Amino acid sequence: MDLRATRVEINIAQFQQNLLALKNIVQQRPLCLAVKGNAYGHGLTSIVEYAKDIVDIFAVATVGEGIKLRDSGVTHPIFVMSAHLECEIPLLCQYRLIPFVSHPNFLQQYQYWSEYYKIILPIHIKVDTGMGRAGAMPNEILSLSQQISLYPNLLLEGICTHFAMADDIDDSFTNQQINLFQEIVTTLQQHGITPPLVHATNTAGIMHYPSSYFTLVRAGIGAYGYNTSYKEIQPILSFKSKITIVKIIPKGHGVSYGGSWVAKKDTTVGVIPVGYADGYMRSLSNKANVIIDGMLCPVIGKICMDQIVVELPNFEKNWLETDVLLFGNQQGLTASTVAEWADTIVYEVLTSISERVPRIYI
Ligand SMILES: *Cc1c(COP(=O)(O)O)cnc(C)c1O
Repeated sequence: MDLRATRVEINIAQFQQNLLALKNIVQQRPLCLAVKGNAYGHGLTSIVEYAKDIVDIFAVATVGEGIKLRDSGVTHPIFVMSAHLECEIPLLCQYRLIPFVSHPNFLQQYQYWSEYYKIILPIHIKVDTGMGRAGAMPNEILSLSQQISLYPNLLLEGICTHFAMADDIDDSFTNQQINLFQEIVTTLQQHGITPPLVHATNTAGIMHYPSSYFTLVRAGIGAYGYNTSYKEIQPILSFKSKITIVKIIPKGHGVSYGGSWVAKKDTTVGVIPVGYADGYMRSLSNKANVIIDGMLCPVIGKICMDQIVVELPNFEKNWLETDVLLFGNQQGLTASTVAEWADTIVYEVLTSISERVPRIYI
């Protein structure tokens, strides 16, 4: 049991409400939940436990994440969305994980190990319709599908693509991606190839492109309460700590490494045991605020590996062990606000919260 002051609290009821809201938006299509990156920092195995009765499929990035899910008892289909090495194929087959395939190079190995484990291995072809990352190019898809069909233990279960700009206000690029993907699916159909799962959209696409829903949607950030405009969908994670030292910094005295903040007057400060090793990014130094007792208090000086210093409103109150909200779903202090201060995106803020921070589910 970790009694340390710094912890993450996850609101389970709100999480399940977010999932149900997403399912409503996509008219009850099957929902694949992205749980890569330790479930966007929310804790992989617990999030899966609380999601498993609502979502149909889980998606991870790596074979290792997939094995962790199987070891925790998950029986749902599990997509491995990022490309893996050839040497990972035996484990992929042993743990019944489903790869997204961008090239024909590993088909023989997939066949060999599926036969070895006596399974039919479902495969999803990934199409690069404009992302320029993983995926076979559009003109390679027919040949790749035909090659897969030559292997008795491989089943072409799905075809998918990924959006590069679905959160952009200009919708032309995403519409182009959707149209190109639709054309490819139609071409396959004309050749008698009809993979049952056709999927393209992430959270941004779910919000803005109903034509991108196809037969399955893949949601990540929206399930955790971000990047959506629906008021029933809300952030579920609160990153909290407590004040462990209170003192007065005299006028002219610096704070933290490099003395980047100097007291203009005698100043009451609190020391909080959270730092960049917990995922409270160093780029927030002298920029972020935290909420203490309902008040916004500035982070002063450089953020250290394990501690930060904040300015407190007064010395009269006994601040020791007072709760501190680093970010959550309060008073505009969300992970999005923090992402702006740190000049990054909410995904990075959430996934940066390290394993050292205990997650509490309430
Ligand atoms: C992470 C990921 C998603 C989910 O994206 P969100 O923007 O978090 O909804 C969907 N598809 C792929 C391929 C991904 O890697």
